[in-house]
Amino acid sequence: MKHVIVGGGPAGVTAAETLRKVEPTADITLIGGEAGPPYCRMAIPYYLAGNIAEQGTYFRHEGDHYARLGIRYLNDRVEAISATDGRIRLAGGVDLAYDRLLLATGSRPAMLPAPGLDTPGVYSCWTLDDARQIAARATAGAEVVLIGAGFVACIIMQALAHRGMKLTVVAGSSGRMVRSMMDETAGDLIMRWCREHGVSVLTGQRVAAIEDGPTVVLADGQALKANLVVVASGVRPNSEFAAAAGVTVEEGIVVDGYLKTSVEGIFAAGDVAQGLDFSTRTRSVHAIQPTATEHGRVAALNMAGRSVAYRGSLGMNVLDSLGLISSSFGQWQGVAGGEAAIHLDAARYRYMDLKFDGDRLIGVNSVGRTENLGALRGLIQKRVRLGAWKDRLMANPYRFMEALVAVTA
Ligand SMILES: Cc1cc2nc3c(=O)[nH]c(=O)nc-3n(C[C@H](O)[C@H](O)[C@H](O)COP(=O)(O)OP(=O)(O)OC[C@H]3O[C@@H](n4cnc5c(N)ncnc54)[C@H](O)[C@@H]3O)c2cc1C
Repeated sequence: MKHVIVGGGPAGVTAAETLRKVEPTADITLIGGEAGPPYCRMAIPYYLAGNIAEQGTYFRHEGDHYARLGIRYLNDRVEAISATDGRIRLAGGVDLAYDRLLLATGSRPAMLPAPGLDTPGVYSCWTLDDARQIAARATAGAEVVLIGAGFVACIIMQALAHRGMKLTVVAGSSGRMVRSMMDETAGDLIMRWCREHGVSVLTGQRVAAIEDGPTVVLADGQALKANLVVVASGVRPNSEFAAAAGVTVEEGIVVDGYLKTSVEGIFAAGDVAQGLDFSTRTRSVHAIQPTATEHGRVAALNMAGRSVAYRGSLGMNVLDSLGLISSSFGQWQGVAGGEAAIHLDAARYRYMDLKFDGDRLIGVNSVGRTENLGALRGLIQKRVRLGAWKDRLMANPYRFMEALVAVTA
């Protein structure tokens, strides 16, 4: 059996290694679209902050890891799929045959609808190469304008602040931080905390252009001159060549409960895939590493002919914004008719908001809490009925650890 995996991120690497475990003699090719060994984007902030060397971002540290497993690793880019004859064409001219193909090509930074993105000193922070360029210019005291205030933008903010850079965050016209990850109360606490810790956060602003300097020009005419501009305002799936091959693509590549796409023999996993959501039972793109890793594992088992159903990904994010820890799990927006147990101490940056559907916990927004966050995830994932513990949590939402122990005993 010939397995070809496109993408050297967590989805692709997990898939290749899982396949090798279950199919010791299969022919496995892993194609990473960037130079160097497969690396973990999630580790980029640690590299940027100066906490690890570049090699620290690599998934595996032995130079011959993939060769030892009999996994052929190629640095090349897929340009086209010919699904009818089971072949892919690479930019380097190679043409490869496959029996099973996994698309784990992730996503790329979304383009800002403003001119000047190619101005010197303007970077995305998505690849290791982006991080190298930024790190080379990230001197203490240098001024950075960070465009975007979502999950990844906040992670980058933390890393650059750690290097002693002076930050201005352009949070966009919504006026909110981490808008797709947490509710407004949590976003406002994070924003106030960042301002108190020396970051200038501009809300209700649209970037009109980036000019030489680099200078970020806002729609109201304000000009923000910087040493460095980092754009982190969303991502788009790398799904174009799949769509061109007839694979169904909506928000991402649509996959069924076994990570199969609409085309026989082709699977998809990770940020590029629109798969089952644990909470809503609908399909969505969860651009987080735990989903990518689990997608990769389950897709590989199905590529190997095992029939393994995917149980759905749980949305979860844990964020450190200049020392303030926040997190969200599951349906943090709540559901119609559901109740919420809320505790807010804004002065001390403590917030806990548990969302229920009947007597089941379905979602969480939390700020200022670091301990036992896994228990919240456990309560949601186990779909346990809380019974009398629901009322206790309504009275004190911080008793969730006790609730987990009691209801799962
Ligand atoms: C700075 C930063 C911090 C992050 N922090 C967190 C975090 O704290 N927690 C979290 O859960 N998530 C985090 N993420 C998101 C997380 O990294 C992604 O969800 C995860 O990497 C997705 O894995 P993937 O394997 O689907 O795709 P990716 O990791 O994006 O890998 C895609 C692979 O496909 C390759 N590729 C693309 N196109 C082609 C092509 N045409 N041909 C061949 N190869 C191709 C790419 O080169 C790459 O190797 C962070 C992301 C960034 C950028």
